[in-house]
Amino acid sequence: MATDERTRPGYFGRYGGRYVAATLLNALEELEAAFNAAMDDPAFHEEYHAILRDYAGRPSPLYPAGRLSERVGAKVYLKREDLNHTGAHKINNTVGQGLLARRMGKRRIIAETGAGQHGVATATVAALLGLPCRVFMGVEDVRRQSLNVYRMKLLGAEVVPVEGLQGTLKDACDEAMRYWMGTYEESLYIFGSVAGPHPYPTMVREFQRVIGDEARAQVLEREGRLPDKLVACVGGGSNAMGLFYPFIGDEGVELIGVEAAGHGIDTGLHSASICAGSFGVLDGTATLIIQDEEGQVLPVHSVAPGLDYPGVGPEHAWMHDTGRARYVCVTDEEALAAFRTLAQLEGIIPALESAHAVAQVLNMADELNAGDIVIVNISGRGDKDCEEVARLTSE
Ligand SMILES: *Cc1c(COP(=O)(O)O)cnc(C)c1O
Repeated sequence: MATDERTRPGYFGRYGGRYVAATLLNALEELEAAFNAAMDDPAFHEEYHAILRDYAGRPSPLYPAGRLSERVGAKVYLKREDLNHTGAHKINNTVGQGLLARRMGKRRIIAETGAGQHGVATATVAALLGLPCRVFMGVEDVRRQSLNVYRMKLLGAEVVPVEGLQGTLKDACDEAMRYWMGTYEESLYIFGSVAGPHPYPTMVREFQRVIGDEARAQVLEREGRLPDKLVACVGGGSNAMGLFYPFIGDEGVELIGVEAAGHGIDTGLHSASICAGSFGVLDGTATLIIQDEEGQVLPVHSVAPGLDYPGVGPEHAWMHDTGRARYVCVTDEEALAAFRTLAQLEGIIPALESAHAVAQVLNMADELNAGDIVIVNISGRGDKDCEEVARLTSE
């Protein structure tokens, strides 16, 4: 195993852990015990995979992208998480945590959301399981993401606007944690990425590794060998970790995480926590974060709403330090160009988040060889972004 989780549960080198108030420790310990028991129970895995198959539409295809391959001079496969129910990989995780909530006898689900995608995926699973759902969302995000607010409400969830400092994701996380602290006996907080206090980074990884488990089997079947490179965008890091994790022991497979450089690292308007961040604590975990000299978390920016997070999952920070994965960044401009390129080359409109991964493959064309096999994670579909891209590109 490539991590030291076994000897120090919840830690990835100097990253990870549980930096929370004492009252929240009880909730996290209860959750960890329930998660471990579920992982050891074949019936849990069976139900989880049955829902992913019959409801979410898994397995997602591994599509050989012929025209993109021609463009970059290597064999490129797209892992089609955009074809999942609700349009992204997030449903894999919310199904897992939703089933866990039911197994724990919880009567309510809580979630935070930034752009609204995790909120929608959580509200969807809450409806599926017949559990009431409360989603915390920054006031600014509520204003910007009115369609997703409508979706969550339509699905029966209650959306709670949070004022906070900026009225965005960070404030929503803080408020959701606070609310959970007071209500954990009856509620479960479904966290949206491989960040947050232990057990979330490990748990969300286990609920997203289905992406990599499938991709590994699919590429072996088609090619008879493992790929040379995997490429995925990194916000909190769940879609990337889900793809990477089953390949961690395969040393010949290069893992490439793509962060958002926004307007450019030099402008300070980015969300590249690994490429341009430093050691700190955010949302209860030690990791690489974007902060000033006094340790104040700084505002972040990306054209892709799902990448707009000032931290990153602790396991990614650790894989960066050990060199197991390589982290690069891509600007808004490059992502917008790749959004269009994939649409026109393959008839697939990627989410702006996923367009960062596509842009990286286009940027790497020079270093690719004709025989190379590259798998790119298309974490979500881009319908949600069309209006914004139209607005930005007509200026
Ligand atoms: C939320 C989201 C992301 C970023 O989250 P990760 O945890 O880094 O995967 C990426 N792509 C899409 C489509 C998303 O909705």
